Amino acid sequence: ATMPPLLSAIATAGRHGVLVKSAVVMERLGRVDAVALDKTGTLTEGTPRVTDVVELPGAGPALSGPKSAGPGNTGPGSTRSGGPVLGRAGLLALAAAAERSSEHPLARAIVAAAREEGVAVPEATDFASTPGEGVTATVLGRTIAVGAPPRPTGTAAQTTASETTAVQTTASGGTAAADAAADLERRGRTAVVVLRDGAPVGVLGIADRLRPDAAATVRDLTALTGAAPVLLTGDNPRAAALVAAEVGITDVRAGLLPRDKVAAVRERQAAGGKVMVIGDGVNDAPALAAAFTGLAMGRAGSDLALETADAVVVRDELAAVPALVTLSRRARRLVV
Ligand code: ADP
Ligand code: MG
Repeated sequence: ATMPPLLSAIATAGRHGVLVKSAVVMERLGRVDAVALDKTGTLTEGTPRVTDVVELPGAGPALSGPKSAGPGNTGPGSTRSGGPVLGRAGLLALAAAAERSSEHPLARAIVAAAREEGVAVPEATDFASTPGEGVTATVLGRTIAVGAPPRPTGTAAQTTASETTAVQTTASGGTAAADAAADLERRGRTAVVVLRDGAPVGVLGIADRLRPDAAATVRDLTALTGAAPVLLTGDNPRAAALVAAEVGITDVRAGLLPRDKVAAVRERQAAGGKVMVIGDGVNDAPALAAAFTGLAMGRAGSDLALETADAVVVRDELAAVPALVTLSRRARRLVV
C-alpha cells in the first residue's frame, strides 16, 4: 500500500533532519500564518563566546582559595584599597562555578572561557536557575548570582534596557555595573552581571554568531505566511535590535520572561492567528506549548524544549523550517 501523504511527509522531513512528532503536527505546519522566533540559539548559532570581562573596582576581597588564604591575606568581608582585587581569573572562576550546572548557552560560554584561560573553578552547591533570568549558587561560602542586568519594572516588552535598575543601587559598585552593562549592550553584546552576596563584582560581555541561513529563512517565512516574523527574546533590547536588523525583522520584543513570550503568542492567537514558535531554551518551553505549532532547534536545544516542541530540527538548520511548511502544504493537498 502507498503511505498516506502526511506519514510520507513525516518520513521525508526525517530524511531532511526534522523530527515531526505526529501527523496532526505535519498537517498543522502548512496552516501557520505567523511566526515567532527566539534569538539566542535560534537566530544565532547558540555557541556564544565571552568577549569582554569587566572587573569592577572596589569589588571586595580576593577570591579565597588555597593560594590566597595564607597569613596576611584579608579575611572575608574586608576590602582592600586601590582598584580591582578580584581579578579577571577570580571573576571567571566565580561565574563559571555558579554556571557549571546550567545548560544555558550563556552558561556554557562562561564555563568554556574559564577552561580556555586555565582558571581553576571551585565547587558550587545550592545551584538554582530561573529561566530567562540567570543562576545562583553557593561558592566558597558566598552567594554568587549570574544573570541579566535587572530589568525596569513594568512590562517587559519594548523597554529601553537597564537604565533604572536595582543593580544601580545595590552596592557601591552598582552604578559601575549598570554603566558597564549598558556599554556592552550598545556594542551588541549580551551583558551578564556577576553578584557576590548581592554586590556586583563584574560584568561579562557575551556574543554569538548569527546563523548563516537566518536572513534567508526570515525572508522565506515572510513569503510563505504573508506576515513578517516577530522576534521574542529574553535578551536586552539593544542586542535584540542589532540581530533583528541583520535578519530583516522589524517587530522586536526584548527583555521577555518565559510568561511574556506566552502572552505574546496568546495575544496573536486570540486574534485568530496560527502561530509557529521556534525556540531552543527552557525559557521557550511555555511558548512552544502555547503555540499552534512549536519547533525546537536540536543542537543547542534544552531537553525541555525538545520534549515540549511538536517538531525538532535535529539537523539544526533554520532553512529546514520554510521547507517543512512547503512539505506540509503539498501533503495537505493530497489529503482529501
Ligand atoms: P533568549 O530568549 O534570547 O534565548 P533567555 O530568555 O534564555 O534568552 O535569557 C534571557 C537573559 O537572561 C539572557 O540574555 C541573560 O541575560 C539571562 N540569563 C538566562 N540564563 C542565564 C544564565 N544561565 N546565566 C546568565 N544569564 C542568564
Ligand atoms: Mg534561546
